[in-house]
Amino acid sequence: MAAFRAVVIDKADGEAQSVGFKMLDDVDLMEGDVTVRVERSTVNYKDGLAITGRAPVVRRFPMVPGVDAVGVVESSEAALFAPGDRVLLNGWGVGEAHLGAFAERARWKSDWLLPLPAGFSPDEAMAIGTAGYTAMLAVLALERHDIKPGAGPVLVTGAAGGVGSVAIALLAGLGHHVVASTGRLEEADYLKSLGAAEVIDRSSLAGPVKPLARERWIGAIDAVGGATLANILSMIRYDGAVAACGMAGGLDLPGSVAPFILRGVTLYGIDSVYAPKPVRIAAWERLDRDLDRAKLARAMRRIPFDDVIDAARDIVDGKIRGRLVVEIG
Ligand code: NDP
Repeated sequence: MAAFRAVVIDKADGEAQSVGFKMLDDVDLMEGDVTVRVERSTVNYKDGLAITGRAPVVRRFPMVPGVDAVGVVESSEAALFAPGDRVLLNGWGVGEAHLGAFAERARWKSDWLLPLPAGFSPDEAMAIGTAGYTAMLAVLALERHDIKPGAGPVLVTGAAGGVGSVAIALLAGLGHHVVASTGRLEEADYLKSLGAAEVIDRSSLAGPVKPLARERWIGAIDAVGGATLANILSMIRYDGAVAACGMAGGLDLPGSVAPFILRGVTLYGIDSVYAPKPVRIAAWERLDRDLDRAKLARAMRRIPFDDVIDAARDIVDGKIRGRLVVEIG
C-alpha cells in the first residue's frame, strides 16, 4: 500500500483550519522506526478539540488527528517489534505534534508502542483507549491515597462520557459506592448498569463556589474542571482526595485553599499523554484485572471510519455516550 486514506487537518497562517479525508503517501509520514497498519482507533475529547479547533491542541499542520490506535506492524527497524505484531498506542503527542491514528497507515516511535495486552481484543482496547486508561490512572491515584471501598461515597463527574463511564465501572467493580454526576439524567439507567449507586444532576455542582461546603465524598474523579472541580473540593470529606483529569467544563479553578488547609484535602493531577511506560503497563494490567468486559461492551459503540469527523464534532458538544470504536482497517 503506497497511498492511504487519512483525516487531515490543515491551516494556513491567519486562516481558519480545514478538515477532511485525503489520500496521503508514505513520504508524508513523519519520523519513527515502526510502520503500522491501523486497524482500530477511537474518539476522545481531545480529538474533538483538534478537529473542531475549539482548543489549540494541534501543534503542527498538516496534522492527522487521533490519539489512540491498535494496529499491525508492517515494518520495523526496532528490535522490540516485528512485522505482524499487534501494537497499542495511547498519547505521546500523537494526533497533536506527530501524525496520528485517523489514518490507514502510520509511522511511530517504538518507545511509544506497547504490545496489545493479551487480555484485550483490538475493539476492547480502543473501547478503553486514552479515556479508559486515564480513568484507571485516576483510580490508582485514589488507591495511593488509601481510599478503600467502604470508606465513603466516591463521586465521578462527566459520568456519561468516556472517562466517566470507565471510572464508574472500575470503582463499582472494586466495591466503592459510586455517585455519578451527569447533565443527562435520561442516562441514569445506563449509569446504574455500569455500577453507579446514585445519580445526581451536574447542575448541583456548577453553582457559586463556597470555600467550604457540607462534607459529602471521600474521593472524586473529575473530568469537568472549572467551577465543578472547585465545588467538589469544597465538599470532600476530611483527608479525602480528588483526581483531576479533565476540562470538559473549563480550564479554570475558581476556588479557595480552604479545603486543603482546613480539611487536609489532596488534589491529584492526572496526565495520560506522557505517563512513563511502566505506569502505562501497570494501568493496562489493572484494567485487564478489574474492568468488567460486559460493562465495557455496554459503554461501547462501533462507527465506520467515514463517520469519525462528525463523531469528533459531537464529542465536544457532549453528545457521545460512553466510548466509540472507529473501524479503520
Ligand atoms: P467525553 O466527552 O466522552 O466526556 C465528557 C463528559 O463531560 C460529557 O459526556 C459530559 O458528561 C460532561 N460535560 C461535557 N461538557 C460539560 C460542561 N460544559 N459542563 C459540565 N460537564 C460537561 O470526553 P472524555 O471522557 O474523552 O474526556 C473527558 C475529559 O477528560 C476531557 O476534558 C478530556 O480532555 C480529559 N482527558 C484528559 C486526559 C488526561 O490525560 N488528563 C486523558 C483523557 C481525557 P455528562 O453528559 O454525563 O454530564
